Amino acid sequence: MLNSLANDTVIWDRKLIELKAQNGKWLLHFENETFATADFVIGANGGMSTARKYITETNIENTGTFIIQGEIFKPEIECANFYQLCNNNILMTSFKGISLVANPNNNGALTYNVIFRSPEEWVGENGLNFQDTGSIIMFLSNLLADWNEIYKKLLRSTSSLIGLPTRKFPLSKTWKNDRSLPITLVRDAAHIMPPFAGEGVNIGLLDTIILSDNLTNGKVETIQEAINDYEQQMIVYATEAQLETSKNEIQILRPDFSFHNFMKA
Ligand SMILES: Cc1cc2nc3c(=O)[nH]c(=O)nc-3n(C[C@H](O)[C@H](O)[C@H](O)COP(=O)(O)OP(=O)(O)OC[C@H]3O[C@@H](n4cnc5c(N)ncnc54)[C@H](O)[C@@H]3O)c2cc1C
Repeated sequence: MLNSLANDTVIWDRKLIELKAQNGKWLLHFENETFATADFVIGANGGMSTARKYITETNIENTGTFIIQGEIFKPEIECANFYQLCNNNILMTSFKGISLVANPNNNGALTYNVIFRSPEEWVGENGLNFQDTGSIIMFLSNLLADWNEIYKKLLRSTSSLIGLPTRKFPLSKTWKNDRSLPITLVRDAAHIMPPFAGEGVNIGLLDTIILSDNLTNGKVETIQEAINDYEQQMIVYATEAQLETSKNEIQILRPDFSFHNFMKA
């Protein structure tokens, strides 16, 4: 994709720190005191995008679920039984309100996600110290105390861990139409949602296809028309995906739900 673009279309290593309307154009202020001007801005800077405030007053919400993601190198040696159990498939297990999803072949490592409701006593985002891998493995071992030994060995083999609170940017409210200059959002910046429907990347691609088609197919007269049409469509399909993922989130974390399956990787 990059090779098909003109040189310098993509400028790497530019962290946007401020965006403001100035003299009828957007002024983009990047780290290291570099600036650019633009007629139109498309915010594609992920789930924590700050460009949202130009478009809607809606705030991002935590859904109350927490994911701990672990990584194991050489899984065929470090946790051989679990690796063989996966048999090159993605393994999904839910038991008593906790889910575990493992991918044995994720760029040369085995990765897994343990998914659970954030305990009420956690203050702020979580009560865990991810600098201390041992303490997280201990936390997970307690969480999965009544699971089979094969899972406990998986946890003990982990070399790195990260914590991911699940977030959603609700789309129920219509976005502002009184923007002073053309600006829109695509991908997670527009509709971050928990990953329980496996739709984030797919609908993110759909956003960019619809928007780029609207901007180039010669059927609209202004950029704002291209934006309005894209946003109307996106709010419908992204809301559906958010509902689906919320439904799955509730289902897989129900205390009375048990599930064990394999999916082709
Ligand atoms: C555990 C987990 C599992 C998932 N599983 C699936 C799945 O199975 N299927 C699926 O479709 N989706 C899945 N998703 C969702 C998917 O990962 C996201 O929807 C997708 O990565 C979003 O892409 P994005 O480009 O919008 O955001 P990102 O991938 O977050 O990219 C945003 C980019 O913007 C850059 N950026 C941020 N701020 C600035 C700034 N100020 N200036 C410049 N650059 C900036 C960041 O560095 C980053 O490179 C999963 C997500 C998680 C967390």
